Amino acid sequence: MFEKTLFGRIFQNFGLHLGTRDDFLVDSYSIDKDGDEKKSEQKQELIWVNIASIFFIHAYAVYATLTYFPELTWSLFLWGWFTCVLGGLGVTGGAHRLWSHKSYKAKLPFQILLLFCFTLSGQNSMYDWVRDHRVHHKFSETDADPHNVKRGFFFSHVGWLMMRKHPEVYEKGKTVDMSDIEKDPLLAFHRKYFIPLKIIIAFVLPTIIPPLVWGASWKMSFIVVCVVKYVILLNCTWSVNSAAHIWGNRPFDKTIKPAENILVAICSLGEGWHNYHHVFPWDYKAAEIGAYSTNWTTFIIDLAAKLGQAYDLKHPSEDLVLETAKKRGDGTWLCHAEVKYE
Ligand SMILES: [Zn+2]
Ligand SMILES: [Zn+2]
Repeated sequence: MFEKTLFGRIFQNFGLHLGTRDDFLVDSYSIDKDGDEKKSEQKQELIWVNIASIFFIHAYAVYATLTYFPELTWSLFLWGWFTCVLGGLGVTGGAHRLWSHKSYKAKLPFQILLLFCFTLSGQNSMYDWVRDHRVHHKFSETDADPHNVKRGFFFSHVGWLMMRKHPEVYEKGKTVDMSDIEKDPLLAFHRKYFIPLKIIIAFVLPTIIPPLVWGASWKMSFIVVCVVKYVILLNCTWSVNSAAHIWGNRPFDKTIKPAENILVAICSLGEGWHNYHHVFPWDYKAAEIGAYSTNWTTFIIDLAAKLGQAYDLKHPSEDLVLETAKKRGDGTWLCHAEVKYE
């Protein structure tokens, strides 16, 4: 029955084949020994509580935006934008570039600030985030990739959060070293108290500040912080896994899906230069193309370095980048590079 509903048809249009009970079959892909893709059928159980919560918060965000937009004040709009950017920087500068890739080192005060900002984003625990991301890089575009883009836009964007992970993700995920995250006392504290910290920092605190500090409406503060901003921030993060793995050019390795996507770079504070990032994941800039304007995260890390809070910033030599682009890229960066390096 479900597959005949509008929602069910949308699912099917995104390449998901619905069953009639609580589970359904999805097409997945494996890479065989010769490097060829082979399609397989793998049963993955749906997580209905995730499906319902993701669906309802998106539906309510659209409804609330259309209904209450005239009541939005400039102060609440700016507050929503400010907390969105702060949360985003916690994800990009903290969870991604510092803890997942260790592309630079940070002093304790900056670590605490990044961890606070990451918690403000309201995403998974740091441990889960880092593990999923390391598995994504190590087994990119295979069944073991948690958001394997070969299963389509919808799956890589949000569908992967709506079902149990593919067995390969669990199996191969065990080979990813997480000892640095497990040993880190700050992250251990964060993991232990993750749920109360998330409720307070991501939702309660940013919602009560506008009414208590400048008398904003409680209802509008809740809608801006807990609904609309939250949905926007989630989609900006997800777009790196979906859009930046589909649309754009591939100047550093034309054989992989990750691409350079300026729109994603702007929305994700600098994480859209994704072809480069998958070739040089240890570069703290996560980019070769693009300046601070499309990479606010790099600006913040450079600023922290100037203040003595970030150090050992890793990046490849210009020669290595140029050689890699010449050898494996699609040629789109080389004309730009020749001007830069001549
Ligand atoms: Zn990626
Ligand atoms: Zn990464």
